[in-house]
Amino acid sequence: MAAILLVFDFDKTIIDCDSDNWVIDQFGVAEAFERLLPTMPWNPLMDRMMEELHSQGRSVEDIAECLRAAPLDPHVVNAVKTAYALGCELRIASDANQFFIRTILKHHGLLECFSEINTNPSFVDEQGRLKIFPYHDFNTCAHGCSLCPSNMCKGMIIDRIRASAFAEGKKQFIYLGDGKGDYCPSLRLTEGDYVMPRKDYPLWNLISSSSQMLKAEVHEWSNGEELEKVLLQLIHRSISTDADRISANQLFSMDCKHGPVPASAAETISLPLPVPH
Ligand SMILES: [Mg+2]
Ligand SMILES: [Zn+2]
Repeated sequence: MAAILLVFDFDKTIIDCDSDNWVIDQFGVAEAFERLLPTMPWNPLMDRMMEELHSQGRSVEDIAECLRAAPLDPHVVNAVKTAYALGCELRIASDANQFFIRTILKHHGLLECFSEINTNPSFVDEQGRLKIFPYHDFNTCAHGCSLCPSNMCKGMIIDRIRASAFAEGKKQFIYLGDGKGDYCPSLRLTEGDYVMPRKDYPLWNLISSSSQMLKAEVHEWSNGEELEKVLLQLIHRSISTDADRISANQLFSMDCKHGPVPASAAETISLPLPVPH
């Protein structure tokens, strides 16, 4: 089993567009959205827009159908499936919502690859209207992070994942994202982790202008094809480093049983493992 944990942003990382904007545009309510955006935060505004769609007679199934048409690069599908098959654990941290993400992942056969989807909760009420709520209830518990929007701090999500994952022996993070909201979690990564920002997007710009703040190694990508290539290279690199470590450990325990360690083997063990760059 690979001891690697992948955390994906969703919008403009897994899918090639922003799912909120996609739905707003496809249903022709972008004008109302833009008009209201200066007056309220994004998350409650999306809930408001779902109310608007419902009042226009759009069903939840109409919204699902719209989401299933959102563009998702086949290279990303392959990257997710391959990472899962290689034994990585995959999670999502996204400021979209459960309904949008689950509908899209299910449509592309990817839902089962993810062990956890951290995002804004949503449910369909008795009237058949989709309701969207903030991940952190900003009325009762402000998260106190100045980098993140009031409804979600992805850095806090990373800290929680780290606490539970490390107890299970997962050692290494690979974080993939594009947006401003992905900067805070990137800063929480440690040495030996990787961050994969989408080139020329806000996360990449923030990292480029403050790279000394980051402990994780940075590997950029521009499109689905590059995401697949870079991600699978990093996973294979981690797996082979892990395999080296395991074989060194096995050699060590074997030599303990069978007397003095030969000089060459002792050298193999005592040398620090190469840190990939
Ligand atoms: Mg994004
Ligand atoms: Zn934060």
